[in-house]
Amino acid sequence: MAEAIELARILDEIEHVHDLRQLDAVRHQWVGRKGWLTEQMKALSQLPPEERRQRGQMLNQWRAAIVEKLETKEAWLNEQAERERLVEETLDMSWPGRVPEVGLLHPMTRVRRRIEDVLMRMGFSLAYGPQVETEWYNFEALNILPDHPARDMQDSFFVDIPHLVLRTHTSPVQIRSMQAHQGRLPVKIAAPGFTYRRDDDATHVPMFQQVEGLLIDRGIGLADLKGTLNLLAGALFGESIGTRFRSSYFPFTEPSVEMDVTCAVCGGEGCRVCKETGWVEILGAGVVHPQVLKNGGYDPAHVSGFAFGLGIERVTMRIFGVDDLRLLYQNDLRYLAQFVSGGGSDLP
Ligand SMILES: [Zn+2]
Repeated sequence: MAEAIELARILDEIEHVHDLRQLDAVRHQWVGRKGWLTEQMKALSQLPPEERRQRGQMLNQWRAAIVEKLETKEAWLNEQAERERLVEETLDMSWPGRVPEVGLLHPMTRVRRRIEDVLMRMGFSLAYGPQVETEWYNFEALNILPDHPARDMQDSFFVDIPHLVLRTHTSPVQIRSMQAHQGRLPVKIAAPGFTYRRDDDATHVPMFQQVEGLLIDRGIGLADLKGTLNLLAGALFGESIGTRFRSSYFPFTEPSVEMDVTCAVCGGEGCRVCKETGWVEILGAGVVHPQVLKNGGYDPAHVSGFAFGLGIERVTMRIFGVDDLRLLYQNDLRYLAQFVSGGGSDLP
């Protein structure tokens, strides 16, 4: 009878535990490997057979009752913990969803890729050169002699190491590509990349991007250049774009030209943006100077070529109607986002 009270006491103790840790302690105390019930079972062997049988049966019933009570209590405690967690983690389904921001390409990157794409479809391969360039590749090889104003400290960024300069244009890639081709024909490359000059105003920044084009083969002349550039302008600005070529001067081309396109703002009527001319300058080009061909390892008696260099900033400004170039580099998303239309890769 004393033992019957004992079982009730054990079950009651289980009933009153508050958490799973306490429950574990109680389990160990009564039915664990070194618990009270296990000790009682071990002690059975010392009893006379009849008593041993009865007490063994009783202890087994106790064990079943205790284990069942432990399981019931454990399930209840788990449910309780889950209920508390749900109360803490309230979820208001009426809140608006969070829309992840999707990154999109910078307008200049899109324009650069468009230019590369158009030129590659015309058979140009992409070529690259170092941004820290030797004076020879940047100036001398391009026929820019030591007394030329572009070589002045006021115009270019020189590096502490003698004879090194941050390239002032992508034109050194002309020489590097000619050398890499080792006399083979044609040399037909487009070289996009960053360039550096000491300029900083509404239409110039110290770091800017150019795309250089170079074609060297037999019998290449100004007509090939004009045809290529007209195709490029049509692909960038639309088929109806007007172009004109003005004679100009660059040390590394002869003859040299500058290409204008009709003003996007006034359509050629004349306005403030185009200084009332109806035209906007877009790039410089020309027939490769014989000395430059020689510097690249080609014989001007047998081959000729054309080259052009176009500022990606200027094309971007023309396409998107940007009037201050510096805005493109300040990376203010409030400004840049206006040029994004639905995340498509195509230009307007
Ligand atoms: Zn205009």
